[in-house]
Amino acid sequence: MTLSEMRIGEAAVITRVGGEGALRQHFLDMGVIPGAEVTIVKFAPMGDPVELMIHGYELTLRLEDAAKIDVEPAAQSASREDRAPKKPKTAHPGLGEGGKFHPKGSGTPLPDGTTLTFALVGNQNSGKTTLFNRLTGANQHVGNFPGVTVDRKDGPIQGHKNTLITDLPGIYSMSPYTSEEIVSRNFVVYEKPKAIINIVDATNIERNLFLTMQLLEMDVPMVVALNMMDEVTANGGSIDVNAMERLLGVPVVPISAAKNEGVAELVDHALHIARYQERPLRQDFCGENDHGGAVHRCLHAIAHLIQDHAKNTGLPVRFASSKVIEGDSLILSQLMLDQNETETMEHIILQMEAERGLDRAAAMADMRFDFIQKVCGETVVKPRESRERRRSERIDRFLTGKYTAIPAFIGIMGLVFWLTFSVIGAWLQDQLGAGIEALSAWADSAMTAAGVNSAIHGLIVKGIFAGVGSVLSFLPIIVTLFFFLSILEDSGYIARVAFFMDKLLRKIGLSGRSIVPMLIGFGCTVPAVMATRTLPSERDRKMTILLTPFMSCTAKVPIYSFFIAAFFPRHGWLIMTGLYLLGIVSGILVACFYKKTLFRGVAAPFVMELPNYRLPGARNVVQLLWEKAKDFLQKAFSVILIATIVVWFLQSFDLHFNMVADSQNSMLAGLAGALAPLMRPLGLGDWRICTSLISGFMAKESVVSTMEILFGQGVSAVLTPLSAATMLVFSLLYTPCVAAVASIKRELGRGWAAGVVVWQCAVAWGAALLVRLVLSALGVA
Ligand code: GDP
Ligand code: MG
Repeated sequence: MTLSEMRIGEAAVITRVGGEGALRQHFLDMGVIPGAEVTIVKFAPMGDPVELMIHGYELTLRLEDAAKIDVEPAAQSASREDRAPKKPKTAHPGLGEGGKFHPKGSGTPLPDGTTLTFALVGNQNSGKTTLFNRLTGANQHVGNFPGVTVDRKDGPIQGHKNTLITDLPGIYSMSPYTSEEIVSRNFVVYEKPKAIINIVDATNIERNLFLTMQLLEMDVPMVVALNMMDEVTANGGSIDVNAMERLLGVPVVPISAAKNEGVAELVDHALHIARYQERPLRQDFCGENDHGGAVHRCLHAIAHLIQDHAKNTGLPVRFASSKVIEGDSLILSQLMLDQNETETMEHIILQMEAERGLDRAAAMADMRFDFIQKVCGETVVKPRESRERRRSERIDRFLTGKYTAIPAFIGIMGLVFWLTFSVIGAWLQDQLGAGIEALSAWADSAMTAAGVNSAIHGLIVKGIFAGVGSVLSFLPIIVTLFFFLSILEDSGYIARVAFFMDKLLRKIGLSGRSIVPMLIGFGCTVPAVMATRTLPSERDRKMTILLTPFMSCTAKVPIYSFFIAAFFPRHGWLIMTGLYLLGIVSGILVACFYKKTLFRGVAAPFVMELPNYRLPGARNVVQLLWEKAKDFLQKAFSVILIATIVVWFLQSFDLHFNMVADSQNSMLAGLAGALAPLMRPLGLGDWRICTSLISGFMAKESVVSTMEILFGQGVSAVLTPLSAATMLVFSLLYTPCVAAVASIKRELGRGWAAGVVVWQCAVAWGAALLVRLVLSALGVA
């Protein structure tokens, strides 16, 4: 029988994992290994993918992949969980044990003044961000990893000079399945942090320890932070931390990042192991007697064979040997083995496969899970089914229910947009707008009173205040939308959306995971493009990046509001919704086109964990909002300020640098006029419109600031409602701003980025013309 034939609620034991390559490795890394017990939880509303329970957590995969996994009914074969010894329940404090595990308390420490660098590594949703914010406070620096656009955050640990902690992307293993896994592993191997802080979700400890075991092989000083201990103890579970330290050979500290418990102790341990360079005491987890010792002998033989190669390339020997056995091509090519060595190793591995009765990758995963089971058997008292789990199930019955999932999704997104644009964000915006207006009026009269030169006066009032001010007033809307999007993501809902939308997205050639960057795209294209790094396939990643510009970003909201206020004040809602939907529909059409042309082939498999729903920490949310607000303010006072000044200058002077009375005679009119013929078929031939669109390439908000300068309040005299509608469609779809194009260039290269600019303009032009023709046929003038 295969996994895909099982029914809801049925339990079975995996006997064989089929498939091949990176996907199969990923299955094994996620704990889908022979001997593991699985229970089917539910099918997505459209019947595919399937959600199952394995090693105490929820995993989703497609039926077509599930069909590659053979199972046997649970009754016929004892699962590895049943065979593993159970720890008798003992009262155990769990929290605040105090540091007892220091093998080398009195060695020679690193010289004073050495910067202690730490890497924070853990699974997704293990509480990394929460812990990172606790450790660094607000004092952190956000950037990119060298050469790639994956968010890199680092900062000193609060209260400790000469420390620097780097938050690595959330990963499940050190196999190169996604680009983030490669980033993390390269960081540990090549940037050589002085120590690793491995954060482990204690409510899901078996799956999380899988990464821990691979990190131990890196031979870098390490401390394990058992996070979410509050949930474990509240539900009657406990973990014998001291026994776990002995088994793993590194200090283990129980913490709750959200409640700030045990964090200070964690810092003490981390500083200690880094200062004394205490490496893990143990890296050898393969038992001499496990299953006849085949894996053990193979690993050690290979370690001896490649020892010198590994040293020369700077790779930890044990890590390199594991990866050689798993057939990791990146590591194999780095080691530069000669033909003879490669053949010898192949013989050793074949021998192991024959003795063990499993292929190499499965044998390695099995060895690791064997050890994990032993550790957990001796140290972990499993909590009873937790309140959080039951709560998640109840919520999921509705949010991923067969008939309720899609309506709930539409309802939630509708609510988010409604709250953002017409309740909270709009209210805040009115307040801020009134403030800016008052300030501008005050500056105006102050300068008149002081008799300031009229050119300077004009620049400040009609240029800077009108331009930057109009953009600045959108800060609340943007921050509010990010607030909701981040809550949806951190709570675990977006993972569910990916689960039930997978089947639909597959129809347009993508997988459910692509929904995450797309939803972020409603906030801003730049982080959306970066978020595609989590997608495992290069094809999906490219295609998703090319589609994110169709999701209307918040920077375009000022444009919509400007035109709605001037032309369609009574249909604001309708038009706003219509524009968002138009963006989505165009994206879908274009995706279908891509699928038939540029990106033939099938979407990547969909294997994803569904975390319990959790309330996002207020601290994280505030921090994120502050970052977004800061970004926006920086943009307003750099790019947009400069753009407004340039526009003001060009429209106030003619080619002989004389100030013009009518901007019709200005330099700008001449320049933008060149573009006008192209836009005339759309009814947008006015030079001022062309100028605004050009400045929108710098930042979409500049379209409005430019129009404020060029038109003042008089836009409705120049455009007809029909042209305004055309303009809206054109600005929805035309080229993304410079920042977005730059991030596309970083991800896909110059050619693609240039392609996006041209292609989006062409699509926008076509769509705008179409809308114009349809509307005028309907009698709109
Ligand atoms: P990341 O994906 O690893 O960065 O994880 P986050 O820091 O975003 O945390 C995931 C979720 O777990 C958030 O909703 C947090 O509020 C929650 N969380 C983090 N640490 C703890 C903890 O110690 N206890 C509990 N109960 N929840 C936590
Ligand atoms: Mg995070």
